Amino acid sequence: MCKYRDCDFYIPIDVVKGIDHAHGDVVVMGDDEIDDAEFVPAHKCKFCSHYQASEKNMGICSGFETEYWAFAENGACNCEAFEMAAEAIKA
Ligand code: SF4
Repeated sequence: MCKYRDCDFYIPIDVVKGIDHAHGDVVVMGDDEIDDAEFVPAHKCKFCSHYQASEKNMGICSGFETEYWAFAENGACNCEAFEMAAEAIKA
């Protein structure tokens, strides 16, 4: 089971809750969980094939010419180098 905050179908309303866009339900992002079968990873660095976790919530991005630090929770919708990791990553 995965948290809604990591699902691509989650649309935030405020800092606590949001809408499960697949079903139209209001959910709590950090508490409510979505079935693995329905989970679609959000566009975040931690789900990118170029992200290598190094410590809690931090890692190394190798998607560009020079490697640099990246936060696991960084939104990646606008990253030109984002590629969804082939292997499912447990958040
Ligand atoms: S390539 Fe973009 S999305 Fe992927 S880890 Fe680097 S900064 Fe994040």
